[in-house]
Amino acid sequence: MKNANPHAVLLASPGMGHFIPVVELGKRLATHHGLDVTIFVVAADASIAESPLFKPPRTPNPLNLVLLPPVDISALVDSSTSVVTQLLIMMREALPLLRAAISAMKYRPTALIVDLFGTEALAIAEEFDMLKYAFITSTAWFLAVAVHFPYIDEEAEHKHRVLKRPLDIPGCRSIRYEDTLDLFLDPTDRNLYVNFTHIGMEVSNADGILVNTWQDLEPLTLHALENEKFLGRVVKGSVYPAGPLVRPNERSSKSEVMDWLDMQPMESVIYVSFGSGGTLSVKQTSELAWGLELSQHRFIWVVRPPVDDDVSANFFNVTNSHDGTPSYLPDGFFTRIRNRGMVVPMWAPQTEILAHQSIAGFFSHCGWNSTLESMVNGVPMVAWPLYAEQQMNAAMLAEELEVAVRPKLQPNTSVVEREEIAEMVRRVMELKGNAMREKVKELQRSANQALVQGGSSYNSLSKVSKECELKLRRLSAMALG
Ligand code: UDP
Repeated sequence: MKNANPHAVLLASPGMGHFIPVVELGKRLATHHGLDVTIFVVAADASIAESPLFKPPRTPNPLNLVLLPPVDISALVDSSTSVVTQLLIMMREALPLLRAAISAMKYRPTALIVDLFGTEALAIAEEFDMLKYAFITSTAWFLAVAVHFPYIDEEAEHKHRVLKRPLDIPGCRSIRYEDTLDLFLDPTDRNLYVNFTHIGMEVSNADGILVNTWQDLEPLTLHALENEKFLGRVVKGSVYPAGPLVRPNERSSKSEVMDWLDMQPMESVIYVSFGSGGTLSVKQTSELAWGLELSQHRFIWVVRPPVDDDVSANFFNVTNSHDGTPSYLPDGFFTRIRNRGMVVPMWAPQTEILAHQSIAGFFSHCGWNSTLESMVNGVPMVAWPLYAEQQMNAAMLAEELEVAVRPKLQPNTSVVEREEIAEMVRRVMELKGNAMREKVKELQRSANQALVQGGSSYNSLSKVSKECELKLRRLSAMALG
């Protein structure tokens, strides 16, 4: 690759939730801002290379997608190691591969952009005199917690974690204990706490921080992140709201689920899905099935076999009854919901589904990509957070933006009963849903405005691209001089 254009290297950590927005960021930098882009992908195994998502997109500028050889971390973890810690170990083990790949490039790249789990790689950017950026694939509110985290003293931690009082974040909405991050809930994993402190420091010290949000969605928090009176004093570089960066809806192939949707009335179906990894307990899966049935509304449900602490629940041996209903769903479910419901095992073409005119609601685990996909399609939600920062996302959606309803109890710690589920579905699909629908359609418009040429997110990426151009010029002048 010649170095006439600035060249940004992006590093994606394992998981669709990171891979998808990193690729979208790469595409926009290449398509709209004239950068050459290489994306290095760290994956738990090589299967991602087979996914249609892995095909390098057609853009005017080169965009290389490179899968780094999978790393074996089995000797470094055991059954008690949290998923987040495993991810961090995987990323750490991949660092020599990244260093070797950058070092082998004929021309030195101009910038390194890493997601939350790749911040240790920013040291490599320093080694090679590249600009270093962090890309937060979540909200500005989550970024605010991350950069504030290293400065939370023992007293504040005690008040939040033990006394369950709200966690104050300078200049931002506080976080209620019920909505807090996993790492405050499980104090036994001190490793996670220490790692998150490092991540917070590394993100704060980057030359710039890109966030998958947009100015008008989170104005208060973005102000706090830039303002010296609040978090601006710990954040070294600028914060660039660059979203919503979501996969475009490319209806490519025929599928049973899309054919079924084509036959449903306008805005009549609720889509139920919990992201790439979300699973429910045995009891909750059954209650959800009953709740959907009770609601009387049409639905598409991406179902995964339940996972339970109960050792007697062995769903490796799923059996199907005479109508095809798997044993973890109520007996006769498929027969009763025929014509009204569609069950899709494991994975569905989510962006295509959410963009379809028959969809009126999204019952979601509130992963940030799913949330953005719902907003850009103007679809109100039932917020059903399960892990990571999803409780914060749900609080923002239900209370601040008023585009979602939420169960009274937390779905990850208690079983939400079928009546409440049916009621939430009705509220999104019927009367109250209309007010939420108007609000979410406003967000849809504001998201589009942010992305078009001259919009706030477009301008953020223009600034990043300018910084890269300046850096390239400086490096070229040094090479000549
Ligand atoms: N996704 C999909 N089909 C599915 C489940 C998920 O296409 O059946 C996609 C979804 O569109 C989103 C991503 O996978 O882009 C999930 O990311 P998110 O941040 O919502 O949740 P995570 O999986 O990281 O918890």
